[in-house]
Amino acid sequence: MEYLSTRGGDARRRFRDTVLTGQARDGGLLLPAEIPDARDRLPAWSRLAYPDLAFEIMRLFADDLPPGVLRALIAGGCAAFRHPEVTPVVTVGRLHMLELFHGPTLAFKDVALQFLGALFEQLLSETRAELNILAATSGDTGSAAIQGVRGRPHLRIFVLHPHGRVSPIQALQMTSVLDDNVHNLAVEGTFDDCQSIVKTLFADLAFRDRHCLGAVNSINWARVLAQMVYYFYAAFRVIERTGAARVSFSVPTGNFGDIFAGYLAWRMGLPVARLLLATNENDILARCFESGLYRAGPVAPTLSPSMDIQVASNFERYLYYRAGGDSAQVRAWMEQFRRTGELRLTAGGASLDDPVLRAGRGDTEATLATIRSYWERHRYLLDPHTAVGVYVAERNLDSAVPTICLATAHPAKFGDAIRRATGADLARHPILDALPGLPTRVTRLPATRDAVAGYLEAALVASFFPKAVR
Ligand SMILES: *Cc1c(COP(=O)(O)O)cnc(C)c1O
Repeated sequence: MEYLSTRGGDARRRFRDTVLTGQARDGGLLLPAEIPDARDRLPAWSRLAYPDLAFEIMRLFADDLPPGVLRALIAGGCAAFRHPEVTPVVTVGRLHMLELFHGPTLAFKDVALQFLGALFEQLLSETRAELNILAATSGDTGSAAIQGVRGRPHLRIFVLHPHGRVSPIQALQMTSVLDDNVHNLAVEGTFDDCQSIVKTLFADLAFRDRHCLGAVNSINWARVLAQMVYYFYAAFRVIERTGAARVSFSVPTGNFGDIFAGYLAWRMGLPVARLLLATNENDILARCFESGLYRAGPVAPTLSPSMDIQVASNFERYLYYRAGGDSAQVRAWMEQFRRTGELRLTAGGASLDDPVLRAGRGDTEATLATIRSYWERHRYLLDPHTAVGVYVAERNLDSAVPTICLATAHPAKFGDAIRRATGADLARHPILDALPGLPTRVTRLPATRDAVAGYLEAALVASFFPKAVR
């Protein structure tokens, strides 16, 4: 399988190179040159356990990895999950909840980042290269990336979070990881400050090359690939349970990474009737599907912070398919968006007419009401991100087609929202309850490029010397 850039200005690459490169040199995103038609294989795939299914899907896209290596990477990723099915499906009322939160940080990003961490380590160990991952986080991504990378000898990770502006539990999920290759930096500023420092350091190509900087953000193809597996797995379980011919999915969406994996599963032939794209008040994507106009506004903080995003980094991949694979059109669109801050995809405010994607939104009030009603009616707790998806799913029910809602985080990660919705402290998880009181390591830094660059350089120099000598 070869990969190409959405903007058409980069050489074709194989899977290994695609993973290590992250973003194409021409600024575009990498995509497989063709999407395999899997319809003939679905009956056989529907009987497979999660790791075997993952292997069958991934090997179509990662055919330059030896099969034994791919199997071992998948097994390692699955072993980090506390549920034997990895991503089980639980039927709750009329909906089917695809629980993606049984990994080490209790959020769906673990599915992809456990795999990506193991994959990076494998590829780097073969060439004896090293990678220093640099990331900014407002919460979920940082801890999932840290758990994916911790203890891996060819990787180091530097995670910037805004000091005092992530929830105490989310901060502890990061700072209580004491492995030598994990560096937590509490930056005295906002998340935007963290992100702009990271962007500045990546844009400095000399600095980036000198220090072998890498990223684990949601545009990495391996993350999309790992996420495709659970769409197949869940569809098979629900078809088995209900006898339906097709299923729909409702996906709480921020960067369009998770739902894009579902879109590719549909393009491979999975019988999906609808993919519901659910946003909170930060609804640039929902507005775009309704009016054809993609225009960023200010970010509003909500109860579902991992969806508080205006510009969705994976949307360009969808635009590539929308343009029928015409990369000149994608280039023109992205240039128009960069210049004017908006992109008009249809004439006269017409909605985006997509065969499978539909959009909807749920605001704070809807989020709280949905959490409350699922607890009262079903004794099932939804985290606020999942609640947005459930709210949108309930407004788009079709009696002939079962709906699968992606449960993207464990409710205990968002105890404040659960208390607001139900009036009680109902959401607990032993992993989170064990965090307060654990030893932590974190370095506080001013919100400047130089402070972070200086820290990184000193840490890299120190790591050249074995501990005994230091
Ligand atoms: C990241 C995240 C999302 C959004 O996923 P995208 O791939 O950015 O669309 C939804 N819910 C939770 C809990 C998340 O951490």
